[in-house]
Amino acid sequence: MNWKNLAVPFLAAGLTLLAGCSPEEDPVNPEVHSIPSLAADWITDLGPAQGVHEGRWEWTWNSPDSLSGQVFLEISAISPPNQGWKVVWDFQDKGTAPNLNYPIYLEPRDLSVWHAFHWTCPFAKPQGPIPMALPVPVPMRCLPVQSPDYGCLLELLQDLTTPYFDQIVTHWPSFPVPVRIGAASNGPVDLAECLTEALTIWNDDEAIPWFKAEQDASWGVQLIHFPERNLNPSMAAKITRLDSIGRPMRVQILTGNNFHDPGDRPYAVRGFVHELGHALFLWGHSQDMFHCLWRRGPPLVSVPSQDERKAARWWHGLPEGLDLSNYQVCQITRCVNAP
Ligand SMILES: [Zn+2]
Repeated sequence: MNWKNLAVPFLAAGLTLLAGCSPEEDPVNPEVHSIPSLAADWITDLGPAQGVHEGRWEWTWNSPDSLSGQVFLEISAISPPNQGWKVVWDFQDKGTAPNLNYPIYLEPRDLSVWHAFHWTCPFAKPQGPIPMALPVPVPMRCLPVQSPDYGCLLELLQDLTTPYFDQIVTHWPSFPVPVRIGAASNGPVDLAECLTEALTIWNDDEAIPWFKAEQDASWGVQLIHFPERNLNPSMAAKITRLDSIGRPMRVQILTGNNFHDPGDRPYAVRGFVHELGHALFLWGHSQDMFHCLWRRGPPLVSVPSQDERKAARWWHGLPEGLDLSNYQVCQITRCVNAP
């Protein structure tokens, strides 16, 4: 396997290899070996505002072959600025380095800063349909949430991305995602206007807008209106087209004639805000009744919570192919804003 082929086109975020677990020494027999350090450039727009910053942290590692040791994680800015981070795992300082033919378990010294996780070198196991686009472990910050129903952002993110995506980070080709709206009215309720309003709500305060209305886009989100039908549920999101490796290229939002009274308009907007959350690949639902993706009934709120916005930013800022089920949610305490 050639790691260079793992680069996925249109990556909104990914890692550029500097010195990963590449089997460069013997391309015929892709065996991976004990190595003193792993390093990569993580191209991402996740920055200090999302809790990612420079620093050096002590971790420990262990593996099923009963080896263990210390490792230092070092994160530094790459240039040009605001493009991402250089991530280095340095096994050199403290003796033993792991044999990367085996999965390793990485645990931070301070569990309030990072999530512990299992990591397998992509060359030591068969790849899934969306290949891991990077050959080094990706550390995940412990980030607090406002919701009383979740202990940390990772727990919310895992809940929201288990359906359909199985917690494997998957991206749209680029942002903003085009949305085909067209004309759609139920008498006094203009659904096209309601959806446009929902786009604006999601785009509020975002450096790069999530969505833009665009009639002729060949991919993205599309409103499908059935003026003669009463739908149950009144709205739904459906993935209707995939690319060659199974990433969604089209999400349709289906709606009928349910919202037809002038008083229904706010509920239509709420419904579209909910479905656009799904269109950001947050395909699951939340336990929190004040989240726009609440699972137990029609949404009670018209705007996404800060927690849901954060979840969307992290999902699209993490490298594609990353499996969030390898990360452990905070078990001891709620996440805090530790340095
Ligand atoms: Zn839903």
